[in-house]
Order: sequence, then C-alpha cells, then structure tokens
Amino acid sequence: MTDASPLRARAPRLRGARALFTGRDGGVSTGEHATLNLARHVGDREQAVEHNRSLVAAEIGAPLVFVDQVHSTRVHVLPATGAPPVVMADAIVTDRRDVALGIMVADCLPVLLSDPRAGVVAVAHAGRRGLLDGVLQSTIAAMEELGARSEDLAASIGPSICGACYEVPETMREEAAQQLPAVRATTSWGTPALDLRAGALAVLEHAGIPAASLDADHPCTLEDERFFSYRRSAVTGRFAGVLRRR
Ligand SMILES: [Zn+2]
Repeated sequence: MTDASPLRARAPRLRGARALFTGRDGGVSTGEHATLNLARHVGDREQAVEHNRSLVAAEIGAPLVFVDQVHSTRVHVLPATGAPPVVMADAIVTDRRDVALGIMVADCLPVLLSDPRAGVVAVAHAGRRGLLDGVLQSTIAAMEELGARSEDLAASIGPSICGACYEVPETMREEAAQQLPAVRATTSWGTPALDLRAGALAVLEHAGIPAASLDADHPCTLEDERFFSYRRSAVTGRFAGVLRRR
C-alpha cells in the first residue's frame, strides 16, 4: 500500500485516478507541524506550507486545488478551464485532468471518489457534522451531474480516527446513531464512541457504490503518529487526500 515516494505517501488503488494520502513525513515544517503540514491558519509558517504543498503537487504531477473547509455539505464543481478559485466548501468535483484535488484532515475522513468510465473524480471532507448532514450524498450528486453513475464509482476512505478511539458524549452518540445507525460504537476503554468510517461506508453503499469498490483499510490517526491528529494535539498540522484524474 505504501509506495516509495520521498513523502512516504500511501497510494490507494482507485480506478481512473492517481490517489495519495500524505502523512507527516517528507516536509519542511517544524515543531507541532512537523513536517508535511499542508494547512494555512494552523500556526505554521506560510513559507513552509507553500513548500510542502509544492512537494505534494510535484508528487501527484499537477497543481493542487484546495477549498476552505467549513464542515458544510457544499460541493465545489471546478470551472471547465482556468485557475480554479478557492471557495468555502467541503468537497471538490471535476472531470479535469490538469489539476489535482486536495482535501485536508487531522482525524476527519478524507474521502476520494472516482468514476473511471465517466472520467469524473471528487474529494470530500467528512467529519461528524458533514457526514451526518450529507456531504457524501451531495458529492455523489454533483458527480452524477457530470455523468458519473454510482455503480461505476470507486471510493477510498483514508487515514482517520477509528471507532475504538473517537470518544463522544452519550447524547451525541445517540443523536448521531438515530440519523446513521452504523456510526454507533464503543471505545476500546468502554465509553460511547462514533465510528465515522463505518458510517461513511454505509452511506456510500446506500448510494449504490458496490461494496467491492470501497476501500477503508487505512490507519487510525490517533493511534498512528505518522499522521496528524487533532485529538492527540489541538495544535497540529493537516495531511491530505489528493486525487488526480488519469
Ligand atoms: Zn483508533
């Protein structure tokens, strides 16, 4: 699963796309942001973030497009040509090959989607709120408007906090489970928890993506220090799921 890139990025196989999940290795940031922080506004040096982003762009072979993520269900469909604007959204959809899509996380789910037949790709940021509010459904709907079909889609859910670690108050678990039963979980120490990955898999399957085309076999960000985790440290960087249409 892990390839030999200097970034030690994980490269999930996703038909019709080149995909990466970055980690902490390979960048120039220091301290809490060491080393491959890709986010602005988390206290890192702007110069370091720009350099780190350029390393990832070189690895994927195209300029990166990010959005200002706000835990919404808003989807940014890129314009057909030209430099894409940076907008507030939590998913990006395109059929372009000349740009790579990036979504930043540190415990939330980075979800990458590809329809190789229609040539449409997407990235989505699914935290608790976005997942329950329907960010994945909105993303798939926007892909379908560009010609994608759910039965042709493949999806990869990257490194993120697991259901055995994501402790929440009992009331929060019950409210979430009423909306999406698959998220109900218990921590390894016996307290209420949410399994956002199980929830995302349920949503993606319910949308019509074949189970065989779904991948969620990636580390837990809280347990695995190769990734940034907001639960581990409130001052931290962000890694990214990155996707480019082949
Ligand atoms: Zn875990």
